[in-house]
Amino acid sequence: MIELEPVIGLEIHVQLATRTKMFCGCEPVFGEDPNTRTCPVCLGLPGALPVINERAVDFGLRLGLALGCELADRSIFHRKNYFYADLPKGYQISQFDEPLCSGGFLDGVRIHRVHLEEDAAKLVHSSASGRIQGADSSVVDFNRGGTPLAEIVTEPDIGSAAQAREWLSLLRTTVKSLGISDVSMEEGSLRCDANISLRPVGETTLGTKTELKNMNSFRFVEKGIEAEIERQRELIQSGGTVVQETLHFDPRSGSLTALRSKEEAHDYRYFPEPDLLPVAVGPEMIKAAQDSLPELPAARASRYEDDFGLTAELAQRLAFNGDLGDLFEATAAIRGAGSDAKLVATWVNGEVSSRVEEGSDQTVEPEALAELLGLLEDDKITTAAARGILDTVIEQGGSPAALVESQGLEKVGGGDELSAAVDAAIASDPEAAAKVAAGEQKALGPLVGLVMKATQGRADGGEVRALIISKLAGS
Ligand code: ADP
Ligand code: MG
Ligand code: ZN
Repeated sequence: MIELEPVIGLEIHVQLATRTKMFCGCEPVFGEDPNTRTCPVCLGLPGALPVINERAVDFGLRLGLALGCELADRSIFHRKNYFYADLPKGYQISQFDEPLCSGGFLDGVRIHRVHLEEDAAKLVHSSASGRIQGADSSVVDFNRGGTPLAEIVTEPDIGSAAQAREWLSLLRTTVKSLGISDVSMEEGSLRCDANISLRPVGETTLGTKTELKNMNSFRFVEKGIEAEIERQRELIQSGGTVVQETLHFDPRSGSLTALRSKEEAHDYRYFPEPDLLPVAVGPEMIKAAQDSLPELPAARASRYEDDFGLTAELAQRLAFNGDLGDLFEATAAIRGAGSDAKLVATWVNGEVSSRVEEGSDQTVEPEALAELLGLLEDDKITTAAARGILDTVIEQGGSPAALVESQGLEKVGGGDELSAAVDAAIASDPEAAAKVAAGEQKALGPLVGLVMKATQGRADGGEVRALIISKLAGS
């Protein structure tokens, strides 16, 4: 059977957090009452004239610089024509063949272009509020209509679902550090479409692609791409051919449904927007964007290596996922110089990241994590207990030290309690004890298990082993 490899290109929409919309003075605010943030321009009323938001252009330039793009000193807006209920003008103002930024590169993936456009309004579908008897209804909320978007288009340089997720996370971190967007996948200020095809390993021409639309979490991006790769693989290997189409991934059932095929694809009839002048970017605008650039993830990673002695891999894992990097830095700062930054880094990258979905508010505060790791470093609790406390703190908040106190989670060590627990274990499994006494190390397992059970994981495994051996050696 021929071996097939995935080829993936991403299209990412970033809602820009400018004070006003792309072409009018309305202030877009997430979660407002419907249709309270509108004017003739963003409602698409006849005769209303758009004006380009200079701040959105500035944000676009910052993004282009951070992604190593070439910035166009002249770019233009086009009308992208189509009919839909969320698009009152009958066209979206977007950029076409002269985008603001082109070319570029981020961690092994080439950027094709970055352009500016306006968002459509939001359709809210419901069956409950049907005005027409027996029919489902949809309402249009124009608050979102006209919100500035930057669209980032990559070249098809991504080779797996996991890489797509990691790269998207790095992109989110980059955009977040620029301070130009809320980058929340849940709230839709960061949206990702994935283009996916397969080809025989060693082949250079691209296979027919499908497009997965609008996945609203990092986990779904990875799962959706994985599912689509599998679907195409089975199709090709059973002699079928992939049809170019747009698909929707349902994360609950894991199923993929077709939204539209190539034959139904739009012909947008792009033409230059006659109501707008070309965007002329002068050297002073570029300088301002340059001066505003923050420390980018790659620089952050090398700082972690230099300042905290982290390995390159661990430094990158934290710096490329901004939430983890922020938590690491804040926690290390609270713990202060002289504390073990590598312990913090390992915990953030391992225990915390496996429990907290990226971008989620359900996380651990740096103060609590610093306190928890302090207890661990001072040998007050075992690693097993620390893991349990982390679960509780992420779920309900609170102070780790107070939890240790109220639930009696202190480590059992050295003293009478541990000694008694070991004696009890030996007494309850004399067979295993005899084997250990005869030098059979394997028989230690059940005895250690009994002690752990009796102390609810509050004893140190190594210490328990040593104590059992020393007690039985004297018997
Ligand atoms: P379309 O005209 O369908 O929008 P584009 O050429 O503009 O396609 O590319 C859109 C996105 O799809 C880009 O991110 C690009 O890298 C990606 N892409 C294009 N062709 C393929 C392919 N055969 N396999 C995977 N991704 C692709
Ligand atoms: Mg496209
Ligand atoms: Zn408006």
